[in-house]
Amino acid sequence: MTTNSKGMRIILMGPPGAGKGTQAKVIANHFGIPAISTGDIFRANVAGETPLGVEAKRYMDAGEYVPDEVTNAMVRDRLAEDDAKPGFLLDGYPRTLAQVTELDGMLAATDVSLDAVVVLTADQDELVSRLLQRAHTEGRADDTEDVIRRRQEVYTEETAPLIEVYGERGLVTEVDGMGEIDAVTHRVFDALENRAG
Ligand code: ADP
Repeated sequence: MTTNSKGMRIILMGPPGAGKGTQAKVIANHFGIPAISTGDIFRANVAGETPLGVEAKRYMDAGEYVPDEVTNAMVRDRLAEDDAKPGFLLDGYPRTLAQVTELDGMLAATDVSLDAVVVLTADQDELVSRLLQRAHTEGRADDTEDVIRRRQEVYTEETAPLIEVYGERGLVTEVDGMGEIDAVTHRVFDALENRAG
């Protein structure tokens, strides 16, 4: 695999505030694949007051996960679009074991497989302060301290176990998500290159 090879299918994971959204866009751009962020799609639906948005908002505002059936159906539709055929970077999905199973089914149905699961690691307290800062600049409804703490708990309980599942498949590469944005991006590229061997 080279950096301009087609067919990269990447999952980006990491606790809330680890910088997934920022890195997702740069990495996806580099590989010429779409960055698909479930959080962004939910937020666009909330803003547009669609039925999906109205349903999702109740959970998001509380820092809880949107129910799997809702999220799975949304991702299934998005992955069926033409631009996701050659490859994609998923930011914020899967987040539960049930979502892993669902994604496995979607990929198997089109006879493709994942190339890598990049896990951004970061210090929890540093993350809370990053998110509180973002609350000032972006005004996200779920960036209050209580909700941030709840999102961290949910991540630890529901999503962190996925690292082991993908680890057993030999797909996981952990990258230190602290420090300058550019430095983190370089670490991600290095990690992906090293995986390719
Ligand atoms: P974070 O900064 O917490 O990682 P995201 O922007 O990725 O935030 O997601 C915001 C919210 O959208 C989550 O707290 C959750 O309510 C909902 N959400 C996003 N992705 C998923 C998913 N895969 N499953 C369930 N809920 C999700």
